[in-house]
Amino acid sequence: SLRVGVLAIQGSVREHIEKLKLMGVEAVLAKDKNTLLSLDALIIPGGESTAIGKMIVDFGLKDAILKLNERKIPIWGTCAGMILMAKYIINDDKVHLGIMDISVRRNAYGSQLDSFKTKLIIPEVSNNEIEAVFIRAPYIENVGNSVRILAKYQGKIVAAQQDNMLATSFHPELTDDLSFYKYFLRLNS
Ligand code: GLN
Repeated sequence: SLRVGVLAIQGSVREHIEKLKLMGVEAVLAKDKNTLLSLDALIIPGGESTAIGKMIVDFGLKDAILKLNERKIPIWGTCAGMILMAKYIINDDKVHLGIMDISVRRNAYGSQLDSFKTKLIIPEVSNNEIEAVFIRAPYIENVGNSVRILAKYQGKIVAAQQDNMLATSFHPELTDDLSFYKYFLRLNS
C-alpha cells in the first residue's frame, strides 16, 4: 500500500499519523533521510516553522525533501508546513524549502484572533462544508501562475495547490473531516 510519511521533528505529528491510519495507508514517522526517500507522499505538519526549518537543515533532511519534490510525490504542508514550503515569506528573512510558488505571511491573524475555527466551502475538495482550525496561522498573499487557489477566508488565501504540492493554513488533522486527506492522496494519480 501507499507509504505516506509525516515529517516527525516537531509539531502535530501524531494527529496526522492517526488520520492516515483511518485512510488505510501505511503511516510512517519520517525523521531520517532513508525513511524520507522511501515515501510515496509526505506531510509537513504544523508546529513552529523556524524550529522545524532549522532542524531539517541540522539533521541533513533538506536535500531528501527536495529530492522527493523533484520526484513529484505529493507533499502537503499544514500551517508551519506551508511556511516551510513557501518560496517567499513576507515577514521573515528566511526561506526554508522554497519549493512552492507562494508568498506567505506568518502569524497573519495577529494576537487578537490567534486561534479560531470556521467552516469553508471548497468544491474541489468536498461537497460539504469543511471545518477549519487556525492556530497562529499564516495565509498566502500572492501566488505564481501555476498555483491553483483552493480556498479563501475573509479574502485571504488559505489553501492552494501547485502540481504535486498542497498547502493549507489550517489543520485538518485536528478535525474529523478526512476530505483533505482524500484530496491529497489523489494528487499522485
Ligand atoms: N506561527 C507558526 C509558525 O510561524 C505556525 C503555527 C502552526 O503551525 N500552528 O511557524
